[in-house]
Amino acid sequence: MNPKREAALYIINKLEEIGFEAYLVGGCVRDEVLKRLPQDYDVATNALPQKVLSLFSRTVPTGLKHGTVTVIHQNIPIEVTTFRTESDYQDFRHPNKVEFVSILEQDLARRDFTMNAMAQDRNGKIYDFYGGLTDIQAGLIRTVGNPEERFAEDPLRIVRAARFAAQLQFTLDKKTKQAIHKLKPLCVHLSIERIIAEIEKIWQSRAISSGISLLFEDDLIRFLPPFTHWEYQKATRAQLEKFDQLKDRIVCWAYLMNLCTNGSKDVELKLLQMRLPNRDIQAILQCYHLAIDWPAEITEEHGKLMLLQHGWIGVQRAIFLATALGRIAVSKPIEAKFQTWWQEMPVKRLKELQINGRDLLKVLQKPAGPWLKEKLNELLQQVALGRLPNEREDLLKEGCKIDALHS
Ligand code: ATP
Ligand code: MG
Repeated sequence: MNPKREAALYIINKLEEIGFEAYLVGGCVRDEVLKRLPQDYDVATNALPQKVLSLFSRTVPTGLKHGTVTVIHQNIPIEVTTFRTESDYQDFRHPNKVEFVSILEQDLARRDFTMNAMAQDRNGKIYDFYGGLTDIQAGLIRTVGNPEERFAEDPLRIVRAARFAAQLQFTLDKKTKQAIHKLKPLCVHLSIERIIAEIEKIWQSRAISSGISLLFEDDLIRFLPPFTHWEYQKATRAQLEKFDQLKDRIVCWAYLMNLCTNGSKDVELKLLQMRLPNRDIQAILQCYHLAIDWPAEITEEHGKLMLLQHGWIGVQRAIFLATALGRIAVSKPIEAKFQTWWQEMPVKRLKELQINGRDLLKVLQKPAGPWLKEKLNELLQQVALGRLPNEREDLLKEGCKIDALHS
């Protein structure tokens, strides 16, 4: 059996042994019904957090105010949350009042969508008070209770709906969709981090375009920080469907940037607003610029120099993006050509050269400086292009020659 599931069931059994109720809840029940592998297993119980803390040897009080204790069993962390209701949502984000309750049905009522509001006991019996199973069968995303009230409490649920549409290829129930249309302006109150986290989950999904279309349809994206004041082109269905053919999340971000910056020059500033890790920002910018300026003709030499500068993954990402942007008609032959060039290149990185900076300093008798990296790169290019063997003597001789030319 799945070790995460086993850990959750161990916890459920232990709580039940001493007379409490405990269930698997939320996403894991939904995913098991759908025969998908759950990301994580969450447990809900009528035991109070202090009880949960005292019952297990390894625990972390992750969110005591909200009734959540993380129990670590055989190195697997499982979130155990006391049944609760939520009310008085402050600034459209956090409930002001969290009340612990003793009835499972009430706990499930606070959850966002019917498919996420089911529980399962240790014998596999499913508790479905809000029609989750029927909606899963029909492939429908429907809020638990009145959709307008539920989105007004926490507008992140609007973005989560788009994320689930992408992950599960589900469609929106009619009233849920109408409520999104009406309440989308509330999304301006959401934090950038929560929105970006949901979009990241869209990038990991099977049907990216189904989720992204919901963001662009009806201009929902105009209400999502940080995209609120950006310039948009009206994205067509064909443009949005291209998201499904992109290689990875970096290319998805780069393509999204193209759709929502309308080719403006401040892509970097806008990327910074998304608060992604710096490494990702650099990779997205690299992909974006390489694809935007994709040349009509590429010689072998130019192609190999591109590979040296951006690496195979960097060039491959740019090919995907340039294809989505219509700058490359058919990607496969170009990808194959670059792959052959990449394999042909005898060296790809400086550390593969048979000499290093210290060797050059010794023969040239010059103090170190930025020139050293430049020179090593020139040698790397020559070896990569097959113009110079990767042999110590040849490299040192050529190094002196280049130096004579420059001085
Ligand atoms: P994933 O597979 O991505 O983990 P999930 O459905 O498990 O999806 P989580 O964010 O892990 O989503 O949340 C766990 C459960 O908590 C959900 O299934 C849902 O029941 C509830 N939940 C999470 N976020 C909200 C929210 N904003 N409003 C109401 N209920 C929520
Ligand atoms: Mg989850």
